[in-house]
Amino acid sequence: MKKSFLYLLSLILVINVTLVGCVFSPNKKDNFPPVSRNNETILQAFYWEMGEAGYPKEETDLWLFLAQKAPELSEVGFTAVWLPPANKAMGGKRDVGYATYDLWDLGEFNQKGTVRTKYGTKEELENAITALHNDGIKVYYDAVLNHRMGADSTETVKLSPYSPDKPGQTIKAWTKLAFPGRKNKYSDFQWNWQCFDGADWDESTRTSGKFLFEGKSWDYTFIWNDDYLMGADVDYENHKVQKDVTNWGNWIINEIGFDGFRLDAVKHIDYRFINQFITDVQKNSNKDVFFVGEAWIENVDDLVGYLNTVNNEDLKVFDFPLRSAFADMINGTDMRTLQNVGLVNKEGYKNRAVTFVDNHDTNRDGKDPGIYRRKYQAYAYILTREHGIPVVYWKDYYIYGMKNELDKLLEVRKYYAYGPGYEVDNNDEDVYSYVRAGLDEVEGDGLVLMISDGESEEIISKRINSRQPNTTFYDYTGHVQGNIITDERGYGNFKVRKSENEGWSVWVPVIE
Ligand code: CA
Ligand code: CA
Repeated sequence: MKKSFLYLLSLILVINVTLVGCVFSPNKKDNFPPVSRNNETILQAFYWEMGEAGYPKEETDLWLFLAQKAPELSEVGFTAVWLPPANKAMGGKRDVGYATYDLWDLGEFNQKGTVRTKYGTKEELENAITALHNDGIKVYYDAVLNHRMGADSTETVKLSPYSPDKPGQTIKAWTKLAFPGRKNKYSDFQWNWQCFDGADWDESTRTSGKFLFEGKSWDYTFIWNDDYLMGADVDYENHKVQKDVTNWGNWIINEIGFDGFRLDAVKHIDYRFINQFITDVQKNSNKDVFFVGEAWIENVDDLVGYLNTVNNEDLKVFDFPLRSAFADMINGTDMRTLQNVGLVNKEGYKNRAVTFVDNHDTNRDGKDPGIYRRKYQAYAYILTREHGIPVVYWKDYYIYGMKNELDKLLEVRKYYAYGPGYEVDNNDEDVYSYVRAGLDEVEGDGLVLMISDGESEEIISKRINSRQPNTTFYDYTGHVQGNIITDERGYGNFKVRKSENEGWSVWVPVIE
């Protein structure tokens, strides 16, 4: 009796082990569904503090490092990388890149005290682009076109009677850029005060202000009088400036080999020029050039207004309104709001959204911690969504130790996040769910996403239509154990834990 009981017990154990094995076996690559279409996913390949003391040494030569990493990035599902500004900036090799000095110097000329930029030389950059292309990864340039900094010399400039500061007076402005180290290679265009609308510094009195130059008017922006941001503000009503910057854009795509642009501070640049720049660069290339604008506008109707003002279908924008919803999730929110927030949920604009959780501005040491809680819930949302192109932030991925869990979500995106997306009808304050039906022609794709901002640690069950009848699902994140089998109509009782640290589950079909 006792012996048979032990035998039974060991049999149960064996069965259990087998079952547990079954639950985990789909993680093996040979059990993934085939990748029929390639979901686009961007890696933002830098952060503000990259290369500084206390951060990984190998990142100080980013172009070399990226060339090495290309196979690994491709394998996990990244289809594009957004590089930091690759041109020479005011601060030389310590400059992150946003203080544009010479767009035509990609680490090739001795200017600002250095040949290389913070990230390496032009040759290293070109090698990185080749390596990334060899692994099927597109490369996007971070174009900082709004302003110039670090001019070579000053000029005496008379100010407009409409200048906000010192109207009608004369200042000494840093507006002469002759690029002495480059010696007119690629472009012989040299900049003087007439290339700018205004500046923020008078060298003669060493005072700051907002100075509009004589005969100039601020450029056309979506938000009125929003042209000036910093430095010497480029006048995009000047035809010679338009021509040089457009030539440069064509060179970056057609000669250097980039595949697209992230347009920095785009709402502070003349929208007529932005439209023309996109049109011209697109027309002059046989690539489908990618454009995403950083229009930092958190109200979705205003962001739509911005897109309509530029009026160019090729322009996408970062979904700052969606990110605001993730910021609300930090301290708990009504999870039902997630079904209609952001550009990614705005009818007619869903495909214009580039979704993200944090970037080099929203997360910066000593300044802003960014989305410091429930960040995986936010990533699970953008990486499973039907619309929007998601961006993963390097600092989250490599520095904050999120790589292992993010890799699971990236695998979900690569193999399962296909087919029409459906909102469910039973979201509540604590749980948001979303379904991808999968593609008809593919066996084993599709998913049920559940994310929670609850904290009770209990497992919640929701009856959800997976759109996949008689299908066995398991939670790819491993947060909830066991299988869920849907009925003949596709319904099943899917589960998620109300938990900050495990409050996201992605149920995917088991493939035998
Ligand atoms: Ca102007
Ligand atoms: Ca401007």
